[in-house]
Amino acid sequence: YLELQGIRKTFGASTVLDNVDLTIREGELVTLLGPSGCGKSTLLRCIAGLTEPDSGRIILERKDIASLPPRSREVGMVFQSYALFPNLTVRENVEYGLKMRGVAKKERETRCEELLALVDLADKRDAFPQHLSGGQQQRVALARSLAVQPKVLLLDEPLSALDAKIRKSLRMEIREIQKRLKMTTIFVTHDQEEALTISDRICIMNNGHIVQDGSPEALYSTPRTEFVARFMGSYN
Ligand code: ATP
Ligand code: MG
Repeated sequence: YLELQGIRKTFGASTVLDNVDLTIREGELVTLLGPSGCGKSTLLRCIAGLTEPDSGRIILERKDIASLPPRSREVGMVFQSYALFPNLTVRENVEYGLKMRGVAKKERETRCEELLALVDLADKRDAFPQHLSGGQQQRVALARSLAVQPKVLLLDEPLSALDAKIRKSLRMEIREIQKRLKMTTIFVTHDQEEALTISDRICIMNNGHIVQDGSPEALYSTPRTEFVARFMGSYN
C-alpha cells in the first residue's frame, strides 16, 4: 500500500537516512521507534513532502508520489507541538484544508461535525486553541489532518508534549480512531511502552537504518541485537 524504497537523505556530510526500505499494509499502524536523532522525523517529512530525499521512491497505491507537492500527496501529518492556527477557532482549523481545496461550505460543516464528534470535541467547536488543553489541541490537530481524508496518516510524537495520564488515554483514543477508520498510519515515538501498546508492527531505527522490524511481541521476545534488546527493555 505504502512502500518506501531506498530512501537516502544527507545534510552536508551526515547521512541521516541510509537506504531505508519499508512497506506498510493498508490499515496498518506501524511505529518507528528509535533514539533522538536517528532520522524518524526526517523520514516522515520525506513521505509528507516537507523534505526532499536525495534518492529513493515513495509508492502510495502503486503511484510514485516522491515528486508531488505536499498537498497532492494525500498524506496527513500531526506534529509534536500542536501547530494549530491560533487565530482560527477549532472548527476553522478543522475546515482549513477543505477550504483550501475548494470544498463547499455545507460539506465542510458536515465533515467537520463528524470529525469533532470522532475526537469528542463537538462542544469546543467555537473555542480558540489557546483555551484548550494540550490533549484537546492534539485532538483538534488529529481532526484537522483527517479532514481531507488522507490515505496515510503520519503522527510525529503526537503525545510527547502531554503529561503521563493524558498521554495514555489519548494513545488509546488514537488507536481506536485509527482502527475504526482503517487508517494506514505511521506513528513515531521514542517511548517503548507507547510503541508496544499502540502498534501492529514496530520498526526499530538507529543511525538512519531500520535495524529490526516485527510485531511488538516478536521484538520484545526475540530482539536480534543488543541495541534492540536494550531499546525494548527486554535486556537487563
Ligand atoms: P527526535 O527523536 O529527537 O525527534 P529524530 O529521530 O526525529 O529525533 P531527525 O529530526 O530526523 O531525528 O534528525 C536526524 C538527524 O538529522 C539529526 O542529527 C538532525 O540534527 C539532522 N537534521 C534534521 N533536519 C536537519 C536540517 N534541516 N539540517 C541539518 N540537519 C538536520
Ligand atoms: Mg523527531
